[in-house]
Formats: sequence, C-alpha cells, structure tokens
Amino acid sequence: MKFIATKELGRLAKWMRILGFDTEYFKEENYPKLKIIALRDQRIILTRNTRMSQPKGIRLVQVKHDFLDEQLRDISQEIDLKAEKNSMFSRCTICNVGLEAVEKENIKDKVPEYVFKTQDKFLQCPNCHRIYWSGTHWGNVEKILKEVSL
Ligand SMILES: [Zn+2]
Repeated sequence: MKFIATKELGRLAKWMRILGFDTEYFKEENYPKLKIIALRDQRIILTRNTRMSQPKGIRLVQVKHDFLDEQLRDISQEIDLKAEKNSMFSRCTICNVGLEAVEKENIKDKVPEYVFKTQDKFLQCPNCHRIYWSGTHWGNVEKILKEVSL
C-alpha cells in the first residue's frame, strides 16, 4: 500500500514513513501531475484539499483534522491501515527511501559521541546519508501508535 500526500500534509507524510508506509510528499499545486503519479505508482492520495475531486481509478482519502493522531485515524477509518512492527523505522523520513544497515565503525565521526557509545545499531539513508538510530529521530512513536490504535 503506497501513498502520496499533498503539500498541507508534510508532517503526516513524515509520520507515515516512520510507520513504514511508502509515502511520497508532493509539494506542488500541480494536481494533474499529482494524479498522474498516483495512477502510475498506484498510490493512494492523502489530501486536506476539500475541492479535490475523486479521480477515476485512484483512491483518495480526505484528511479532515489538524492533529497527527486524528489525521492517522481519518486514514485508518477509510482504509485498513496496519502498521507492521518490522517495517517501522525502516524508511528515511526525508527521502522516503529504505534505510540500510551501516557498520558502526563507519559512522564514528558522523554521530555524537554519546550516541556512538550507547547505540549499536545504525541505519543510513542511501540518498541523503542521514544516519538513524533508535530513539533519537523517532521520538514518541509508541505513544502516537497507542493513541490511534494502529
Ligand atoms: Zn534520506
């Protein structure tokens, strides 16, 4: 299940990625182009734009709320959104690209010293080279998940 979020939904797009969902973030207002991408990649459109009509052959979910937990609930009411434990935290929150495991020794100079000392598992985005480790960039995911009961 893949998604494409319109420009009002940057934070939601980031969180969809944290939860493991392939989610493009489309910042332009070029809606015909958006629909072409959605159709081509079979992506479900997530939008707050109430004027966007349901395009043929593409699923569209209207996100009605402002806050993240409510937005996730908006989506899960429309589609069977199941966050898989082992696909969470596997995607770059900026690039929507799958993260790759990286040897601890190779990133020694790229993370804060205390992180290097206390963490053993590191992942890296092959696109932007951002380094991820548990707890830091992902914050209170468990709490959000509980609130939206995904
Ligand atoms: Zn990245």
